[in-house]
Amino acid sequence: MSKAEKIYKEYLKRTGGRDTQQKRTIITELSKLRSHFDIEDFINEIRKKDSKGSRATVYRVMKGLLKEGFIQKITTNDGKVYYEHNFTNKHHDHIICNSCGKIFEIESDRIENYINEYCETIGFKPEYRSLHIYGTCSDCL
Ligand SMILES: [Zn+2]
Ligand SMILES: [Zn+2]
Repeated sequence: MSKAEKIYKEYLKRTGGRDTQQKRTIITELSKLRSHFDIEDFINEIRKKDSKGSRATVYRVMKGLLKEGFIQKITTNDGKVYYEHNFTNKHHDHIICNSCGKIFEIESDRIENYINEYCETIGFKPEYRSLHIYGTCSDCL
């Protein structure tokens, strides 16, 4: 079973949704993306593969994936929204430049462990987290 197929099965299990070709296409195409993406660009890609692919379905699937922690949402200072999947990437955080919009990744076991341990000490079960640091990158300074 491919990684996308596994994610798809898990997604259906957790959301209790029906198995449809549309959903399958969305998750398969999503799994091919390697970086942060804009949802409108993604919808256009889906429509090339599947003429019946609807905006509403993409949004619905994205909402479910977000809720279940399969994808992350990143918002820049000027209100642009990007998404990214965690199918193969490890969970990580982001540093975002307010001037040029460049997104840097922070992938750190120390951060992961610290947050998990902290949640544990207060008896909190983390489901989703999004850590964004906004500022000015070295090119823009
Ligand atoms: Zn910059
Ligand atoms: Zn990222």
